[in-house]
Amino acid sequence: MPRRKSPVALPPIALSPVLALAAVFLMGAQPTPVDPDTVTIETNKLAPGVAALFGRGGNIGVSYGADGTVLIDDQFAPLTPKIVAAATALDPKPIRFVINTHWHFDHSGGNENHGKAGAVIVAHDNVRTRMSSDQFIEALNYDIPASPKEAMPLVTFAEGVTFHLNGDTLKVFHTASAHTDGDSMVKWEKANVLHTGDVFNQSGAPFVDWSSGGTVPGMIAAMNAAIAMSDENTKIIPGHGPLGTYADMVSYRDRLEEFLARITAEHKAGKTLDQVLAMKLEWQAATGPVSADRLVQAIYKGL
Ligand SMILES: [Zn+2]
Repeated sequence: MPRRKSPVALPPIALSPVLALAAVFLMGAQPTPVDPDTVTIETNKLAPGVAALFGRGGNIGVSYGADGTVLIDDQFAPLTPKIVAAATALDPKPIRFVINTHWHFDHSGGNENHGKAGAVIVAHDNVRTRMSSDQFIEALNYDIPASPKEAMPLVTFAEGVTFHLNGDTLKVFHTASAHTDGDSMVKWEKANVLHTGDVFNQSGAPFVDWSSGGTVPGMIAAMNAAIAMSDENTKIIPGHGPLGTYADMVSYRDRLEEFLARITAEHKAGKTLDQVLAMKLEWQAATGPVSADRLVQAIYKGL
């Protein structure tokens, strides 16, 4: 993955205006900061001691009760006070653990605040690796700087880890090379709730961050794992968008398989990426049809 140079590192007198413009264009942008005044955190209780919080960015899962509060993802740093207020309304004890489903800034942006406040941050090994150095998300043209020490996971795992608290068993398990190379899902065994992270996305087309090691076949395998450990009664917290069902996950997995087969066939028939993009394929999301361009690009990257 080529690293973008900071503008201050470029020799200022050596660049013609055209080259300077090209340098700016090639450089990644940074996500727009979130204004907390524009965001309301909505709490949805799913089972005793289990809730989902919806705000801006990745959906948050909460385990709360006698053993302390656990957050699954924490959205953006400016939202931390509102998220803490919502969690405290469920249970007044401090946040003991934060589990990141993956490294993306809209899921781990509150880590530094929670880490400084004493929460133990837990994630897959590759989450810590990616947060330890500057990252570039090619699909979004975003430059994400390395995270400060307090934001990085203190505890990491390769395959999974199990939490025994609040009267339930939370299985945190890694799904390889799916949305990124550091994805985890979290299953509440007793409450029968599953947080899928961004592998399952109910607000737009599936997003595969290929520059962070994500692949479409990995997404399908991860969805198969999610489906295998769920049933018609499982409550699904997707990475984004409204709560989902078992049927939503099956349909999403099936369409991913269809998309992969379709694009693979176009590629085999000799169509270039630009020719397939010109077909303007759409993805039917829970929120309506959206462009599937990035999904097409992700599939081409893997062919
Ligand atoms: Zn993500």
